[in-house]
Amino acid sequence: MNGTTDERSAPRRSTRFRLTVLGCTAVPLCFAGWLSWQALAGGHSPAAADASPSARPSSAVPSAGASPGSAAPTASPGASAGAGASPSAPASGGAGPLSGRTVVLDPGHNPENVNHPTEINRQVDVGNAHKECDTTGTETNDGYSEAAFTLDVVHRAREILQDRGAKVVLTQDGDRAYGPCVDERAAIGNAAHADAAVSVHGDGAPTSVSGFHVILPAKVTAGIADTSAIVDPSRRLGVTLRDTFKATTGEPYADYIGEQGLDTRSDLGGLNLSKVPKVFIECGNMRNAGDAQRMTDPKWRQLAAQAIADALTGYLTAPAG
Ligand code: ZN
Repeated sequence: MNGTTDERSAPRRSTRFRLTVLGCTAVPLCFAGWLSWQALAGGHSPAAADASPSARPSSAVPSAGASPGSAAPTASPGASAGAGASPSAPASGGAGPLSGRTVVLDPGHNPENVNHPTEINRQVDVGNAHKECDTTGTETNDGYSEAAFTLDVVHRAREILQDRGAKVVLTQDGDRAYGPCVDERAAIGNAAHADAAVSVHGDGAPTSVSGFHVILPAKVTAGIADTSAIVDPSRRLGVTLRDTFKATTGEPYADYIGEQGLDTRSDLGGLNLSKVPKVFIECGNMRNAGDAQRMTDPKWRQLAAQAIADALTGYLTAPAG
């Protein structure tokens, strides 16, 4: 995200969530299922992730129209479909611990947003406010864009999740003129009846601060927004992601926002309008030299993707309750 141009530019600290359960008693439960799967899968360690680049070119991804018989979602009629493209079609889930599960990965922003200021500045209804359709995102001081970062990490995470049998839906795959708008990003997850969704971002905070944080949906019941049903499961997902990301990448918690790597927000359309468990992750501060060095390293991005995939796996395979 970007502190001046992003969806978060509105009052970002209005609903500060105070997490006092630092040890997260849910974590052992969160990981129990995943560990069970690990045992079945031969004990693959997330820390030993293959760091080879695994991004797939867009051309290798079938278009949504190429799989009419699948459960490929289409943009909600009520959402902003101005860019004219459908969300990337999911590959069919195969065998594995996530067989039968659907995951939505939402790469924040779009490299082409910068060329469509009118379209992305259009206001959309996020329930408790109107927000920009989408934003350009941030970049490192050397010009590596947040949009490029998020799409690369999501490609890597998709491959891992598909290997575990999940059906993976992307909200965009570099295949749209701009966007999608934040309301459509949520609508894609809803239409897919996703079991979980993760929106991937990099932050654009002052250069002196660093670290990652996970953003959880606040309870919002206003207008078309009602997050009542997703607050609790999203928190479980978010705590799992927070712990897994720190352990896998070594990135510290953000030292400038949130608490112990967690922040709760009521001003993000992508969360307000979601009907499925969803969190955002700000993987680091792209304006900070140390974070930028890591985020521009493909090996680190592979670790970030591994963490996201492992967290989703842990969440989705955890015992109910
Ligand atoms: Zn962003």
